[in-house]
Amino acid sequence: LCVASQDFDFFYFVQQWPASYCDTRRSCCYPTTGKPDEDFSIHGLWPNYKDGKWPQNCDRESSLDESEFSDLISTMEKNWPSLACPSSDGLKFWSHEWLKHGTCSALNQHAYFQTALDFKTKSNLLQNLNNAGIKPRNGDYYGVESIKKAIEKGVGHTPFIECNVDSQGNHQLYQVYLCVDSSASKFIDCPIFPHGGKCGSKIEFPSFSTNDDHDEF
Ligand code: 5GP
Ligand code: 5GP
Ligand code: 5GP
Repeated sequence: LCVASQDFDFFYFVQQWPASYCDTRRSCCYPTTGKPDEDFSIHGLWPNYKDGKWPQNCDRESSLDESEFSDLISTMEKNWPSLACPSSDGLKFWSHEWLKHGTCSALNQHAYFQTALDFKTKSNLLQNLNNAGIKPRNGDYYGVESIKKAIEKGVGHTPFIECNVDSQGNHQLYQVYLCVDSSASKFIDCPIFPHGGKCGSKIEFPSFSTNDDHDEF
């Protein structure tokens, strides 16, 4: 069996909190396949170097081929929805992630998407936060450290928490970064944490269920 050599050190596996994508000053659009569940969703699986840099767009000839992962599409619609405007069915977002990051992963399209879906299940973020009493609710604030500890307890490794700012200016949980080894087999301690998306010590974990602003649905 020939395994392509991997010109990177590890992956960031990045999940987003849909309510926090949507309640910023920018708008979001629900997918054509329906309002997302109140759960974390996948942003991407990103090859990275341990100095903080990363490769991207490693194969300019590649294009997304739905026939290669048709068995995964309904699972991806549920777990990897696109909230960008205008509303879409996800293909454009998946294509962007595949071309920018997936082509550098040494995985084929099916393996790339399947691997990301598997790591979402394994990370079990919402349940791990729930287990620590951390539940999405507007107006409640949680310590970033308690969020990190709850995820670490479930996953075995400390995440990086990225925040964004809601329309009232409150910092809130936006994305969770976990690290995966370069063969995409297991979570590891992050060799380096990303920058940006600073949180402050207390952050909101907003709920999606009320009347969020969005352009279309
Ligand atoms: P990028 O290509 O830099 O990741 O993002 C491009 C677009 O994604 C932005 O112009 C914006 O429309 C959208 N975007 C990125 N972050 C957020 C966010 O936190 N909330 C919303 N609603 N849109 C975002
Ligand atoms: P942003 O500027 O919104 O943080 O990131 C824009 C895009 O740049 C991300 O969607 C991702 O594709 C890429 N990116 C940002 N930071 C990192 C990083 O630390 N590692 C990798 N591999 N990609 C990143
Ligand atoms: P990145 O380049 O940072 O990996 O991915 C961000 C790009 O994907 C942006 O151009 C953004 O507009 C697009 N995108 C589409 N749907 C989503 C979504 O639900 N969340 C985020 N963060 N980006 C999305």
